[in-house]
Amino acid sequence: MLALHGTGVSDGVAIGKAFVLQRELPEIPEYVIPREYIEEEVARFQRAVEASRRQLLTIREHIPANAPPEATSFLDAHLLMLDDKMISQAPVEAIRNQQYNAEWALKTQSEILSGIFEQMDDHYLRNKKTDVNQVVNRIQRNLLQQNYDEHEKMSEGEIVVADDLTPADTVMLKHNRVRAFVTSLGGPISHTAILARSLGIPAIVAAHSASRYVSSGEELIVDGKRGMLIIAPDRAIVDEYRRRQKDIARKKRELNRLRTSRAITRDRHRVALLANIELPADVRAAAQAGADGIGLYRTEFLFMNRPEPPNEEEQFRAYIKVIKSLPGKPVTIRTLDLGADKQVDGGRAGTAITVNPALGLRAVRLCLHDTSLFRPQLRAILRASAFGKVRMMIPMLSGQEELFQVLDLIEETKSDLKRERIKFNPKIPIGGMIEVPAAAISADLFARHLDFFSIGTNDLIQYTLAIDRVDDAVNYLYDPLHPSVLRLISITIQAGKQARIPVAMCGEMAGDPRYTRLLLGLGLTEFSMHPATMLEVKKIVRGAHLGQLTRFAKDIMKLRDTREIHMRVEKQSRH
Ligand code: PEP
Ligand code: MG
Repeated sequence: MLALHGTGVSDGVAIGKAFVLQRELPEIPEYVIPREYIEEEVARFQRAVEASRRQLLTIREHIPANAPPEATSFLDAHLLMLDDKMISQAPVEAIRNQQYNAEWALKTQSEILSGIFEQMDDHYLRNKKTDVNQVVNRIQRNLLQQNYDEHEKMSEGEIVVADDLTPADTVMLKHNRVRAFVTSLGGPISHTAILARSLGIPAIVAAHSASRYVSSGEELIVDGKRGMLIIAPDRAIVDEYRRRQKDIARKKRELNRLRTSRAITRDRHRVALLANIELPADVRAAAQAGADGIGLYRTEFLFMNRPEPPNEEEQFRAYIKVIKSLPGKPVTIRTLDLGADKQVDGGRAGTAITVNPALGLRAVRLCLHDTSLFRPQLRAILRASAFGKVRMMIPMLSGQEELFQVLDLIEETKSDLKRERIKFNPKIPIGGMIEVPAAAISADLFARHLDFFSIGTNDLIQYTLAIDRVDDAVNYLYDPLHPSVLRLISITIQAGKQARIPVAMCGEMAGDPRYTRLLLGLGLTEFSMHPATMLEVKKIVRGAHLGQLTRFAKDIMKLRDTREIHMRVEKQSRH
């Protein structure tokens, strides 16, 4: 028996036989092509690109109807990348100019791309780098005439262990009803992790070397909650985990009964539970979990993995789709949170790499810097506001001046629409994300000009504790209960109360049941989260007594020892 640890990205327990997905590329041959054969080599490269396209299209056609929407969108992203000049054209130039053979030309280009991505710290781009590698490997395999999908024949009920998984793999996972998966690489917000959650199967990523220690056919236990992989477990351990599986299934059945119940505390305080979504198709999961609306629609996903940004009309249609799927419910559309590093121009090499992208021209800063990007979105959101309860939310505010500029642009856009006799809600609520410490500290100043706040703890924690969200090396410092973070949350909630504007939270902390009671006690009344944890949070809300929790939160805020804060919050969360 051997236990390996990784990052649990999707809860649950799976017991089954391993299927190890081996996909190492063989050594890439490197040789010089004689001049007279260059065009032939170019044609060979182009045939490999075409073969890759056909394979992806075939997989796309075979996506089962009930597969998660992400599966299709990731395949579409890979198809788009095949059209990108950096992948389809640059190697052709290397064949023609340097006389490289096709594999070598592609390898050289992929190393250049990796180098560019390496300098970017942003998590979205990290995912993009994985996508690029997957696309490049597919073309390499076709050049080397290695059958790409042949060995991906996992069978029903198996646990897939791999270095990494491609979107195409995940479609197969769904198709073959695999029980769980474990990858050696990846992070909690990688495509793999997102898909695992939407498939509802236990999953672990970053279980380093897992694919080296496991052999196909071996018995495995995947504990998604603890991020633990047990190889060849003893009988007693298997029995223990079978009991746990039964408990989980029972708890799930119980939780499902809460779908239509209201999130109301024992002392009759109503709490709003809303959903975070990335794509319009995610609304389905939000509705199934009984969400009170959408608290965060991350619109930047519409702009990614494509050569051109969506125009006003396309954005409008996407927003309308979400609004119409949740009739009568609020939909909070966040304006673009792209960064200098999250390019919308299809990733032109070498552009816009800043020294520290997390502190650079990101989100509202980028929108104000390039209003040609911002104006169509403002128009689309305003137009959509005529069709439902739309709220607009501005990310990454740090200074008031920025907010004034945004408000001016919104007013200008409203005037344009009025002149053009296009309908919109003139009273559309405009909210701000409080995710930069400066904004939290001066929340009272922002409150005077905004209709609501939403606390983005993911960034608030990153900036307050000076820990890069995507840097593994400082992950251990990530602490939502750090007194400075709690103080900033409390300051924001109090500022909202004083100004009589609602305060929501849409960072991961809001969907983590361990913190629900403390946040309630601090006065939070609107929580926005991934739909998967919503019913668990609802259960806690329904069992909570706000009066008692207010006293509990007051006590916590007085504590001087961080360890004690942790102990007390953990104890309270076990009640
Ligand atoms: C946050 O920062 O907490 C947040 C919700 O936004 P994102 O994770 O998209 O940066
Ligand atoms: Mg954020």
